Amino acid sequence: MSNSEEAFAEAKKVIPGGVNSPARAFSAVDNEPIFIEAGKGSKVYDIEDNEYLDYVGSWGPMILGYNHPQIVESLQGQVKKGTSFGAPTQVETELAELIIDAVDSIAKVRMVNSGTEATMSALRLARGYTGRDKIVKLEGCYHGHGDSLLVEAGSGVTTLGISGSSGVPNDIASETIVAPYNDLEALEKIFNKYQDEIAAVILEPVTGNMGVIEPHDEYLENLRKMTADNDILLIFDEVMTGFRLSYGGAQELYEVEPDITTLGKIIGGGLPVGAYGGKKEIMEYVAPEGPVYQAGTLSGNPLAMKAGAETLKLLKQSDVYASLEEKGAYLAEGFRNNIESLGIKAQISRVGSMFSIFFTDTEVVDYQTAQTSNTDVFAAYFNQMLKQGIYLPPSQFEANFISNAHTEDELKATIEANYLALKKVKKLE
Ligand SMILES: *Cc1c(COP(=O)(O)O)cnc(C)c1O
Repeated sequence: MSNSEEAFAEAKKVIPGGVNSPARAFSAVDNEPIFIEAGKGSKVYDIEDNEYLDYVGSWGPMILGYNHPQIVESLQGQVKKGTSFGAPTQVETELAELIIDAVDSIAKVRMVNSGTEATMSALRLARGYTGRDKIVKLEGCYHGHGDSLLVEAGSGVTTLGISGSSGVPNDIASETIVAPYNDLEALEKIFNKYQDEIAAVILEPVTGNMGVIEPHDEYLENLRKMTADNDILLIFDEVMTGFRLSYGGAQELYEVEPDITTLGKIIGGGLPVGAYGGKKEIMEYVAPEGPVYQAGTLSGNPLAMKAGAETLKLLKQSDVYASLEEKGAYLAEGFRNNIESLGIKAQISRVGSMFSIFFTDTEVVDYQTAQTSNTDVFAAYFNQMLKQGIYLPPSQFEANFISNAHTEDELKATIEANYLALKKVKKLE
């Protein structure tokens, strides 16, 4: 047994499935997880000191690479002063100011401890502000594991949602209506049927959690208009895309302003964090200013705030996004050439430094089309890449992330590894 296999066997005795978040278990790729000892720049090292070139980036936060020296230093400074007080600290204001400065639609922001907490709180705020109970979510978008958001589509587009997990009461799931992504007609039907009952539409403006899918031209603009016309709030869940696709997130890239935005991942610089923010008149509903209750012992934790503020300052200073776009385009072109020359049924979907390879020749525009992907081929591909020392997210339906630490040589090596892996899996098609 390898050290990781032993470590996994030990972990399984004391942690459900051996992991603290299901996607880490490698079950979608017929393998067992690698236990990580350390990370540096674009690389991670397992407990046997094997080196991997990494495209997981802790599922998004590590946009500057692992263990950035400036972030480590600022954390060390804060540790010496104290790790938590449960009282206001100035670094909370600093991070809030950085976020508000970056994201035009946010006038005030509340810090929480995870993306899940951010979206749960944003829904409560939307319901409190509008006095309405129903929520529209889009199929395949993931917003954390809150009850209202772990909901699957009913049988027809205008029917109410059904519980997507054991333990989520159907009474709660039925307050959520599920519609396909990239489909305005379906939303129009839903708006017509439930118009005065819908508090908000929540979505990932660019999806990452069913693989990377881009919004159709004008989709976000029209969604903005339709929600405003119906007095329905628009919530962009930018936990993944915020500070990833541009400094101002997907909303800056597509020039569409939501009413409420949820953030996480990058704004914690690798520490646990979440945040929700929006227009002043909406955020004034949050306690203690307003009647919507939401609190947290460790919210605004000074360590997380420090790592987040330092990350944002580094992102703001440099030309990170232009460079990430260049790296993303280079990698995608290399992969596309490989796909074409081998004649594999696959496609690359990319926005900036987020990308997915879908093993299907159906154009992927929503959850249903994403599901046409051949997950057996993906699993084989994943394992072939891992054998070559390249660590990818262990599921067809996750986004890969490029960090600013990835070098041109590393990207070139990835394209070569991709060619060999695709060649191996071709016979499985
Ligand atoms: C990761 C993610 C979440 C959940 O955040 P956690 O910190 O894992 O709770 C919510 N929404 C989106 C879009 C995400 O990518």
